[in-house]
Amino acid sequence: MHCIARSSYADLPPHFYALDSVAATARPVVARVNAAFCAELGIEAVAFGESLRRYLEPVADPPRPPTLAQAYAGHQFGQFVPSLGDGRAHLLGELVDAQGRRSDVQFKGSGRTFYSRGGDGRATLGAVLREYLLGECFHALGIPTTRGIAVLLTGERVPRGVSKPGAVLARVAASYVRVGTFQFYACRGDEDGVQRLADYAIARHDPDLVGTDDRYGAFLQRVMERQARLMAQWMSVGFIHGVMNTDNMAIAGETIDYGPCAFLDQYDAKKVFSSIDEHGRYAYGNQPNIAIWNLARLAETLLPLLAPEEPAAIERAHTVLAQFGPLYQAEYARLFGRKLGLLQATLVDLELISDLLALLSANGVDYTVFFRALCEVPVQGPRAVAVSALFADTAGFAAWVVRWQARLRVEPDATEGAARVMRASNPAYIARNHLVEAALLAAEVDDDWGPFDQLLAVLRSPFVERPEWARYSAAPSATEVVRQTYCGT
Ligand code: AMP
Ligand code: MG
Repeated sequence: MHCIARSSYADLPPHFYALDSVAATARPVVARVNAAFCAELGIEAVAFGESLRRYLEPVADPPRPPTLAQAYAGHQFGQFVPSLGDGRAHLLGELVDAQGRRSDVQFKGSGRTFYSRGGDGRATLGAVLREYLLGECFHALGIPTTRGIAVLLTGERVPRGVSKPGAVLARVAASYVRVGTFQFYACRGDEDGVQRLADYAIARHDPDLVGTDDRYGAFLQRVMERQARLMAQWMSVGFIHGVMNTDNMAIAGETIDYGPCAFLDQYDAKKVFSSIDEHGRYAYGNQPNIAIWNLARLAETLLPLLAPEEPAAIERAHTVLAQFGPLYQAEYARLFGRKLGLLQATLVDLELISDLLALLSANGVDYTVFFRALCEVPVQGPRAVAVSALFADTAGFAAWVVRWQARLRVEPDATEGAARVMRASNPAYIARNHLVEAALLAAEVDDDWGPFDQLLAVLRSPFVERPEWARYSAAPSATEVVRQTYCGT
């Protein structure tokens, strides 16, 4: 526990959390420690893993350090649930890096809490490894995310139809404050609670706003900006979160709670993987709409802080929320521009981009394979075999390439320079659904961690192609393709 500092969340009023202890497990074992992440944080990995393991030991001597479960509410698939909270997670405390940045360390799958309704408070090894893999994948892609720092085995089985090995994920976030955390106090009419939480979040994530006049409006603005950028990033890599409930949207702008998430194989704006998303609320192309919907829910909780009179407060919230669309569009154009080798993409380029996506959709082209293959065109020319072969409608694609190349020529360097930007923006390797499932299955069922470790190594280097990793960049075959994902907690 040497390097985990006491949680500053414990200084908030007592109804913000429950002082729940981590539950003991039969035979806790450290399965993996994220050595690279520990190094970034200036932590000695082996000792840290051991300190985490001690939290879970059957006999706690010295007594288990205090931990807490956080209260939150949330809109789940649009339905408001006033009481959620960490039902199987415990906040251990904070890590402080060399720059003085604080982050929260939390266990997930570490037992029941005050907020557990159904469920056993436990997590399966598969769910834990999925979150660990996805966090590392996102980190390597440069997308804000919570990250796993260690995986511990509990030595127990958890009942999930057939029983599965139990595990605990130690994960790190800028903080675990969610939109739903604000909703918890707002729906109880607890204006003081909302203000305390907002002050806490501002001090933690936007310290430059502390003490400024319009800090709550400015805070809403920052959260909005972080989400607009995050959504553009998700879209650019073809990611579908799957459960964008307000309790799964972090104020710090990190991707959080990887459940039935997935990456696009073939491009399809309406794509849904999650078995519980029956109406496509969280479909790939609907994610920015949901983000602004969630931000509106956050804005509602902040209204009493935005101005003394409600009309003025609503006006202030509107001013912020109205900027989401333009900001998102600009960021989307910038990121997709880079995918096309355009360093100065603007809204004018959106048509070129959407026409391309329509072609991908009509031709059933694998999204990630396409953009990586396209990186060869600025140097090899429009007849680069790998990319043209992806289209049934080769003429349609060729016509688009002519337009793209005309646009590229306006850039300072339309050949090698463009290819370099493209190779740094179009990952060869993403956490492809079929690879993730195969890796989790091998670890969970056969206790074979080889596929997991190998996939993790590949995902940590998404932009550097290696011949021996060819199968990790390939689209799934018809028999491999994953059609549906499950919550599988
Ligand atoms: P998550 O899918 O981890 O975002 O969880 C959604 C909500 O369900 C949270 O309140 C969790 O704490 C709770 N939950 C999920 N799985 C379990 C479980 N096995 N036992 C208790 N609570 C759970
Ligand atoms: Mg969640």
